[in-house]
Amino acid sequence: MEKVTGKGHRLLLMPLPFQGHITPLLHLGDILYSKGFSITIIHTSFNSPDPSTHPHFTFLPIHESLSESEASSIDSLHLVDLINVRIIQPLKECLDKLMRSKEETVSCFIADAVLHSTQSVCDGFKLRRLVLRTGGATSFVVFASIPLLRENGYFPIQESRLDEPVVELPPLKVKDLPWFETRDPELFYNLTSPIFDSLKASSGVIWNTFEELESSTISKFGQEFSIPIYPIGPFHKHHFPKPSSSFTIWTPDTSCISWLDTKEPKSVVYVSFGSIASITEAEFLELAWGLAHSNHPFLWVVRPGLVRGSEWLELLPDGFMESLGGRGCIVKWAPQEKVLGHEAIGAFWTHCGWNSTLESVCEGVPMICMPCFGDQKVNAKYVSDVWKVGVKLEGKVERIEIERVIKRIMSGDEGKEIRENVLNLKEKANLCLKEGGSSYNYLDALVNAM
Ligand code: UDP
Repeated sequence: MEKVTGKGHRLLLMPLPFQGHITPLLHLGDILYSKGFSITIIHTSFNSPDPSTHPHFTFLPIHESLSESEASSIDSLHLVDLINVRIIQPLKECLDKLMRSKEETVSCFIADAVLHSTQSVCDGFKLRRLVLRTGGATSFVVFASIPLLRENGYFPIQESRLDEPVVELPPLKVKDLPWFETRDPELFYNLTSPIFDSLKASSGVIWNTFEELESSTISKFGQEFSIPIYPIGPFHKHHFPKPSSSFTIWTPDTSCISWLDTKEPKSVVYVSFGSIASITEAEFLELAWGLAHSNHPFLWVVRPGLVRGSEWLELLPDGFMESLGGRGCIVKWAPQEKVLGHEAIGAFWTHCGWNSTLESVCEGVPMICMPCFGDQKVNAKYVSDVWKVGVKLEGKVERIEIERVIKRIMSGDEGKEIRENVLNLKEKANLCLKEGGSSYNYLDALVNAM
C-alpha cells in the first residue's frame, strides 16, 4: 500500500509566476498531496494560477502590486528582479498569519529557485526552505558556473568564438551557453549570485529531472553543493490518486486533438515554442513555408505575441492554410501533454524549454531543436549531442533548411536511430518512478526529510 506520511503537516509552495514554472510546481504539490501533506500555494496576483484546477489545495494570493502593463514594459530579467523585491513585504505578512495558526504545523516552504528573496523571509520565521528547480540539472550547474565562465572570458559571448569548446563544461560550446536579451547585461550576472547563495542556505533542492537522464551532473552538483538533492521527476508522470486538470495561463484549443485523430500514426510535426519565446516576422514566414514544403501534416501553436510586431496570423499569405488542404492546423494554445501523447505525432519542433523537453522524452517523441534563450541552448545541446534524441536547427531560420531537417527526423536511418534512443529514454523515465526506481527512492527520502 502507498505510504501516507505527511498527515497533519502543511507545505507552503510558491511559484515564479510564469507558465513553465507554475505547471511543475503544481505537479509537485500533487505529488506531495498524494503523500498526505496539505498544500497551500502562495502566489503573486500577477499571472495567478486558477484555483479551480486544484480544488484540494488552498490558494493564497499575495499583493505584490505588479500590473500587466508594468510587467510587459520590462524584459524577463528585470521582471524577475522586480518580483523578488516586491514579494518580500506581502510574503512576510502572509507567513505571519499562517505561522500563528494552531491547527496545523507548517513543515516547510518550497520556493522556485529563482525566488531567492524568499530565503531571508523564511529565515525570519525560522521556517525551513526547500528550493524547486523547474529546469534541468545540467543547465542549473551551467548557471552556477557563470561567475567562473565570466572570469575565464566566455562572457560577454562573442560571435567569433561561438564554435569554441567551453573546456570547463564539456561538451558545451560557447554557442550553447545561456543568455538573455536584456538592456542591462550586468543584471544577468548579478541575478545568478543570490540564486545560488540562497540555494546554499536552503534545506535542499528538488529537481524535475531523473537520475538516469542527468546522472553525471547530479553527482557533480552533489560534490559542489553540500545540500540534499532530490531529483524526483518527471513530475507530470507520477501517479496522482486525485487527478487535477493541468493549469495553463491560456485556454488550450482541444479541437486539435480531433484533427490529430484524422492523421496517420507518427506523421505529424508538432511545432510549439512555449509561453515566452518570440520570433521575427521573417522567421515566421520561413517557418510557414518550410512546414508547407515539408509535405508532412503539422500542428503549429502560434501564441498571440509569438511573432514580434504582429497580432496573430495576419502575415500569412491569403489562402495559405486552405492551399494545404487540411494538412496544417494552427492553434493559439494546445493541450501539449495530450498532443505529445497522441499516436499521430512524429516529431516535436521545440524551443527546448525544460518542460517541453521532458514532456517529449516522456512520450518518446523525437525533437527538432530551435533554442531561443537562457537554459534552452544547454537543453538543445543535450537533446541533440548527448542523449541523441533530436536534431538542432542551426543558423538562420530558412525554409530549405527546415524542410531538410523535418525530412531528416521523420524518415531515414538517422530518424530511426533517434526514435529508438528516445523510446529508450521514455522507458527509463517510466522505470524511475516505479517502486525501487531512482525518483521513487528520492521522493521517499524527501518525504522523510520533511
Ligand atoms: N504548453 C501548453 N500548450 C502550448 C504550449 C506549451 O500546454 O500550446 C505548456 C507545455 O506543455 C509546457 C509549458 O507550457 O509544460 C512550457 O514550458 P517550457 O518549459 O517548455 O517553456 P517556457 O514556456 O517556460 O519557455
